Amino acid sequence: MPVREVRIRDTLSGELRTLSSGEEVGIYACGPTVYSRIHIGNARPFVVFSLLARFLRSEGYRVKLVINVTDVNDKIYDAAREAGEPSAEFAERMTAAYLEDTERLGLGRPDAEPLATETIDGIVALIAELVESGHAYESGGDVYFRVRSFDGYGKLSNREPQDMDQGEEAGSELLKEDPLDFALWKAHKEGEDTRWDSPWGPGRPAWHIECSVMAEEELGPSFAIHGGGSDLVFPHHENEIAQSEAAGRPFARAWMHNGMIETDAAKMSKSEGNIFQLSEALDRYGRDAVVDYLVSGHYRQPLAFGVEQMEQAVARCERLRNFFREHSAGGERPPDSPAAKRLAAFCDALADDFNTPRAMAEVFELVGEANRGDVPGAPEAVGEMLQLLGLGSLAEAEAGADAAAEELLAEREEARAARDFARADEIRRRLADLGWEVRDSPDGARLVPKA
Ligand SMILES: [Zn+2]
Repeated sequence: MPVREVRIRDTLSGELRTLSSGEEVGIYACGPTVYSRIHIGNARPFVVFSLLARFLRSEGYRVKLVINVTDVNDKIYDAAREAGEPSAEFAERMTAAYLEDTERLGLGRPDAEPLATETIDGIVALIAELVESGHAYESGGDVYFRVRSFDGYGKLSNREPQDMDQGEEAGSELLKEDPLDFALWKAHKEGEDTRWDSPWGPGRPAWHIECSVMAEEELGPSFAIHGGGSDLVFPHHENEIAQSEAAGRPFARAWMHNGMIETDAAKMSKSEGNIFQLSEALDRYGRDAVVDYLVSGHYRQPLAFGVEQMEQAVARCERLRNFFREHSAGGERPPDSPAAKRLAAFCDALADDFNTPRAMAEVFELVGEANRGDVPGAPEAVGEMLQLLGLGSLAEAEAGADAAAEELLAEREEARAARDFARADEIRRRLADLGWEVRDSPDGARLVPKA
């Protein structure tokens, strides 16, 4: 049985919802559309929902986490054309890059990562069901959802019909009965190099339908949490509700939306633009700092991003590594000790709408208390807290460098072997930013934590 009652703020009702402990907690989060390497904004839902699943499991819940990949889409056709590559190959390459980039976060994989292109049969079947029941209609080889046939439309985003723009391509309004309607299936068009057969002719799924189908295939017709970025509330999630509920599925019992990563446009266009890409941010700051940064704000709030915020994250990580260098484990931790109380408060914060900044504040309170005087069991408690937020590696600072730093060190060795000393120096500086000093010796170079 779960230890703690966990509550999540539901976007639809605006209320805190207690997760049911009796059944598996199914979480479906919308993943990236793979038209480019992912950026730090795509990493936020990946990190938030991966860590939520980790926390729930530690509390005794059974969890299944699903994060999909949208691998067929207008943006992918456009990007593939620009790259001079078949769109299926392009999407496959970008999916592999997404897996590689998120793997480097060191948080494990979701339990299922379905692809839209592998869900076509289920998509065609659900659209056929909606056409059959009068909630959808074919027009010019496209199929559209009849929005006014579904009473609850607008309940998630709280919008009036005049404020609803489906954002679909020009010309589709000529095929619609009502401008509010949205596409479920798109007829094959000149210049698109993938297509699938359907009762309405060759074509491909429109965007929203895939998530209704993938969520049901992986989690059943009713599941605990549907998540994603707040930019998906309308139209994407509003349309998922319409499709699934009109087809008689109860669908998600709670909606959980993460805020956007906010950048300073002027800085981004100059010096900081490249670190907005996840792989670049990981190269430059290391996975600990990237994960620390992403849990530094409450998931529902927007989070400012830039060099300044990343350097603060690096400094926090270094402070925690220093704590473990100075305090060795082995102390007793009675249940009512200060360390045990901080650990309990940390978990209570996560159980209260996954409040990671409040949880991290408990970590630093305990670190401060232990630095001021002997607090039995503090290193173990801090280590357990950090482990729950995917930052357990900070406690292993003495054991050796993390994989990202070791990779950089190997690159530096290659650069030196190739007598590319400018590159070798650049990597040494980058390692220094990550908190590592390179020590060359007759046995080769090794990394030592910077004093
Ligand atoms: Zn989705």
